[in-house]
Amino acid sequence: MRNSKGSLIRPTSLPESASRPVVTPLSPSVVYASETPDALDAQYEGRVHGYTYSREGHPNADVVAARLDAMEGMPGGVVTASGMAAVSAVLLGLLKTGDHVIGGKQLYGRSLRLMAEDLPRLGIRTSLADPGNVDAVRAEIRPDTRLLLVEAVSNPTLNVADIHGLAALCKEHGLLLAVDNTFTTPRGFRPFDHGADIVIHSITKLLAGHSDVMLGYVVARDPALNERLRVFNVTTGLTPSPFDCWLAERGMLSFELRFDRAQQTAAALADHLAALPGVARVIYPMRTDHPDHDRAVALLGARGCNMVSFELNGGRAAANAFTRAADGLSFAPTLGDVGTTLSHPASSSHRALTPENREALGLREGFFRVSVGLEDADTLKRVFSDAVAAAMAG
Ligand SMILES: *Cc1c(COP(=O)(O)O)cnc(C)c1O
Repeated sequence: MRNSKGSLIRPTSLPESASRPVVTPLSPSVVYASETPDALDAQYEGRVHGYTYSREGHPNADVVAARLDAMEGMPGGVVTASGMAAVSAVLLGLLKTGDHVIGGKQLYGRSLRLMAEDLPRLGIRTSLADPGNVDAVRAEIRPDTRLLLVEAVSNPTLNVADIHGLAALCKEHGLLLAVDNTFTTPRGFRPFDHGADIVIHSITKLLAGHSDVMLGYVVARDPALNERLRVFNVTTGLTPSPFDCWLAERGMLSFELRFDRAQQTAAALADHLAALPGVARVIYPMRTDHPDHDRAVALLGARGCNMVSFELNGGRAAANAFTRAADGLSFAPTLGDVGTTLSHPASSSHRALTPENREALGLREGFFRVSVGLEDADTLKRVFSDAVAAAMAG
């Protein structure tokens, strides 16, 4: 745009339009100019809303936060640069030296690392317990325990946490219950309706859904905690990039359709796999043979999730033959993409464990976790049939 004085560099206004864009504009601006010091005072004092510096907040992040607030049924959430930034904001931003925190023993790998390595370094003590067993969690509670962090459905064995029992336990002992809802998503499960105090998401996974953006989100029931999370986020620079937020919003527009489609296909694929020769077992919470089936129905209702795990006979050799033959599926360590992805815990997420410890978790060499995508269900069944047959022939 030409500037009327000719020599100044920045435009002072944008082209006029009586109509508005349908798509949220991308606002990469790091700074926002105010009219006068008085106007800036009004902003800082909260009398008017205005952006100042994008680490402190920007329109694209606020648009994504508002969408997730509506989905989780809680106002005031904060968008972060990744799911781990959201987990870090909760554990580092709300706890202090001397506090104790309990985590589910099958949390996301990096959350486990934060609990095992980083919190103890800062004098925050941690314990892990099975979130499907309230008595086991109760046994870890100490006078200085402040918070319990769990996932409703665990990765990769798809055990379902006893959220109702844990919520009652947390209430009784005055602990904050934080639920990482990444796997289950607000379409499948709304933790605040079941007694959670804090909800965390990796937007990177199903919510954004296209494996092209990394982003997280956290929201608390207590507005004072939301303010602490927001300030921690701004101070430590966990703020997201506007472009990532813009992409995430684009993905989230189709999230519900994608989730419903992927979840239906996952249910069909689970039944299909269970009938294939060479498949030792199938884990899907909505199947009646799942050990936590009743709890899954109570928490997830009719929708379930898009994740299916299964175990092939034949050990590592069969696992290698399977991924080689699984034409068109990505053998890649993520979940929630539009395309189906396979992960093999023994060679990736759980490779640091001894074979004995993996065995104890049920993660043998033939174990795969499938994140079901948007492919046609019949095509997907055929690809799995062929790949399992190839694995058994090899
Ligand atoms: C991926 C994931 C995270 C971390 O999210 P990033 O966006 O990768 O940082 C946290 N929790 C769960 C359950 C996840 O699957």
